[in-house]
Amino acid sequence: MNKEEINSMLNDLKQDLDIKEKIKVEVKPMKIKAASISLNKNTIRLNKNLLPQLEPQCIKYLILHELLHLKLKNIHHNNHFYETLYNKVDKEQLSEIERKIFASLLKLNGILL
Ligand SMILES: [Zn+2]
Repeated sequence: MNKEEINSMLNDLKQDLDIKEKIKVEVKPMKIKAASISLNKNTIRLNKNLLPQLEPQCIKYLILHELLHLKLKNIHHNNHFYETLYNKVDKEQLSEIERKIFASLLKLNGILL
């Protein structure tokens, strides 16, 4: 998935969440994280090493997840975070996506399941 595809995914999700702020996406190698967000810099960071292993729906989820932190102005995974998330993604589909991302991260770090 290239930068353009990622940006178009970002724009669709921003529209869906009614986020008007400018958001930057950086693709950088990371060790243990799939993605992260800086709330002061409005910047989402995606793990460069992981991206080639992920299906588009997993990448979309990572962006959605970080955008929700931004929308809620909160980096914690509290009940409110999950309630908002479950409004956007079906619970079962979500656990399948999280499982795939986690498995790819483990594989990336040489830990086999
Ligand atoms: Zn999070």
